[in-house]
Amino acid sequence: MKYWVYVHLNNDDVNQAIREQYGISNDKDEEKNIECSFCNAENKPGHTECRNCGRILSLKQETEEEEKREVLERLAELEKKGILDKIQKLGQEDAK
Ligand SMILES: [Zn+2]
Repeated sequence: MKYWVYVHLNNDDVNQAIREQYGISNDKDEEKNIECSFCNAENKPGHTECRNCGRILSLKQETEEEEKREVLERLAELEKKGILDKIQKLGQEDAK
C-alpha cells in the first residue's frame, strides 16, 4: 500500500512536470470559461475575443461595472433627496 501511494504521488509529480513543460498548469484548468455577452458562447480563459462572434469578451465586465456605478450614483442621488426612505415606507405598507 505504501508503495502504491508513493508511485501515485510520483506520477502526479511527473504529470505536473509535463504540464509545466508544455505550459499547461493546473491553475489554468481551474479557470472558468468566459461567457460571451452577445451570443452566450463559452470561451476558454485567456481569450480576449469570442470564438463564435468575434466580439470583445471583456466588454461584458466593463459594461457591468459601468452600470453598477451608474446605479449606485442614482441611488446616492435618491437617498440625498429622501426618496429612498419614501420608497421603503411605501414597500412596507404594501407588505401589510
Ligand atoms: Zn460571442
